[in-house]
Amino acid sequence: MMRVLVFPTAICLLTACNTPEPTAYPTPKKADVSVPALHFTATNLTSLQKAAAHFKSVIEVPELEESPAEIRQSVSNTISRGEAALDAIASCRHDNLTFGNTVAALDDLSYDVELTANRLNLIKETSTNSALREAATDSTKVISEWAVGLDYREGVYHAINSYALTLPKLQGEGDKLLRDALRDYRRAGLELPKAERDDIERLRKELTRLMTDFESNITRAHKPVPFTKAELEGVPESILQQPGVKTGPDEYTILANVTFHFITVMENAKREATRKKLATIQNNLAREENAPLLQQILELRDRIARKLGYASWADYQIEPRMARTAATAREFLLNLNQGLQPKFESELAEFQKLKARDTGDASATIQVWDWRYYRNLLKKEKYSIDTEQLRVYFPYARTLRGMFDVYQTLFGLKIHRIEPPAKWVDSLQLFAVSDAETGEPLGLVYLDMFQREGKYNHFAQFPIIPGKLLPGGQYQRPTAALICNFPPPSQDKPSLLSHAEVETLFHEFGHALHSLLTRARFGRFSGTSVPRDFVEAPSQMLENWVWDKKVLDSFAADYRDPSKKIPKAVLDRLKEARLGTIGTYYKRQLSLALVDLALHTEVKDGGHQDCIRISNDLFSKIFLPMPEDTAFVAYFGHLMGYDAGYYGYAWADAIAADMATVFEKSPRGFYDTKAGRRLRDEVYAVGDSRDVAVSVEKFLGRPRSIEPFLRTLGILNKAGASSGPNVPEPVQALPNK
Ligand SMILES: [Zn+2]
Repeated sequence: MMRVLVFPTAICLLTACNTPEPTAYPTPKKADVSVPALHFTATNLTSLQKAAAHFKSVIEVPELEESPAEIRQSVSNTISRGEAALDAIASCRHDNLTFGNTVAALDDLSYDVELTANRLNLIKETSTNSALREAATDSTKVISEWAVGLDYREGVYHAINSYALTLPKLQGEGDKLLRDALRDYRRAGLELPKAERDDIERLRKELTRLMTDFESNITRAHKPVPFTKAELEGVPESILQQPGVKTGPDEYTILANVTFHFITVMENAKREATRKKLATIQNNLAREENAPLLQQILELRDRIARKLGYASWADYQIEPRMARTAATAREFLLNLNQGLQPKFESELAEFQKLKARDTGDASATIQVWDWRYYRNLLKKEKYSIDTEQLRVYFPYARTLRGMFDVYQTLFGLKIHRIEPPAKWVDSLQLFAVSDAETGEPLGLVYLDMFQREGKYNHFAQFPIIPGKLLPGGQYQRPTAALICNFPPPSQDKPSLLSHAEVETLFHEFGHALHSLLTRARFGRFSGTSVPRDFVEAPSQMLENWVWDKKVLDSFAADYRDPSKKIPKAVLDRLKEARLGTIGTYYKRQLSLALVDLALHTEVKDGGHQDCIRISNDLFSKIFLPMPEDTAFVAYFGHLMGYDAGYYGYAWADAIAADMATVFEKSPRGFYDTKAGRRLRDEVYAVGDSRDVAVSVEKFLGRPRSIEPFLRTLGILNKAGASSGPNVPEPVQALPNK
């Protein structure tokens, strides 16, 4: 039940930023002041709170701790309150057990702990004060470890179990809350003899400590790599002019740990030696500390899983998700892999032709440091697309307003900007989301959008205050934050987003809507607390909006001359280029997902299976040969928190493609308000309060199908027939089951 504390609470994005490389931009000279103002109806928090009171609900911003001492005090207060609440449950007389004094009380106390954990997480990832960030990191360890112990309170377990034995007549959400609590106890080992259960508790606490260390080593990895101008031939001036990059008369320092730097060089550097050097360094980040740590973590996970009666950690992790077993997830990936192989080979052959021409070597082969470069070259030469040039159409402020207009229409909402009562950074913005028809305030979302030193270096939605029906009968409306790293504005230009970044914005705000629009009664079911292999699906579906001409024309325009829209021909070529290289993109995704599953099934406690070798061999087999003497998994952050869960991105993509067809087939297309409302009511509002498979089918109005996904991959033609002999079984193996 306390999984939220043990694992990161942020929901992050992979599709646009090609994990596992974290993204960050150099700190802008002009700090954050140049964020353009938006012209929304301004209102304030007090008037919003008054409006909420009419709807018997509460809306608020978090009061963030302002010193390390306050942080430690908060943790200690939270733990004391938690202990008292646990004692109250455990001391209930067993002839007086009710839903309220057992499972609901457990949800109340978990919620209270989650509020503190979310604040600490936010401070840890966004504070501009390094002492506060460190105090929050340390306190996160304290609270996570204490939270593991929550599962092992025997008295509480007995009270819940005894209540279940009274066979209460519960329905819907209440029934699910009890069933899920019992499942959590079983999965924590409470049904085992005391000595074994104590052992599992101790091992799980050790695991949370090791995981925090692994993540900290990734955050700390910092690797400047100096190059001469000649070595960086082809790399755009825009990056060479970034603050901190030019470090000598003919020296440019690229940071291997900054994704923006890494990808720009890998996509543009003409010299193979430059790409090879940077890729090798990048694939060795955090290796010294994290390679032995990962081995230890994997063996520990296996030990815990087997003590609990599972064949592997992957089976343990996947049990409560849509896929249910590691075998189902693996079969899904392997079927896709088989279906994509011919397409991948033909894409590689195109890259190879370009490389052979460039190098004059007919037998040149595409290496792991080549594919981004030749994919980019192919886009330019075959599809005449220069992704950098498209940025002029997406100035940040106009894009944000455009996205709000789309989501307001689609979901029946109003989004207003309000002044944050307190800011952790100057450029912070706060928006209130309300129901357009009734005016009911639904939630608040902070936007912290540009990079700065010490900040979380990816793109994610962070829950802060989850939704929940409070014991007094009022509904706590949610507050969330988007923490992103879009390119900062410069002296002479606004922040200009790439098309991929616009996709990211639509995706991440989708997660915020999932959090804000909840109607779940219990904290553990609200918002994005759905299974990991589903949580990305609604946001991945919303990525389709930025490929629609009508949607784009509603806001995208050249910032120097807003009468200039994106030409249809350009958008068509973008789509062709995506389809023309999607095999490469997906094969890499599949290789990472299969590595993740292999590590969590093959590495056995005390078996000494080398996790680096397993990863490199499998990655090489599925995607491209990984050079000797590299260890990319040491820097693969998803192995902490998304462990045995990377497959979920592809799994959710299959569901997302299916869900998108509802809009594609509608006469109103991506502006179909009926379908939008159905998404709001059947998916967002419901959260995890019922089986998500049911929610998806209610949205679709029919059983699920894998075919739309196969079409987006270009391995099934429009008529629905297979386009090649190898095309997959996935239809049977997949989410449909
Ligand atoms: Zn996401």
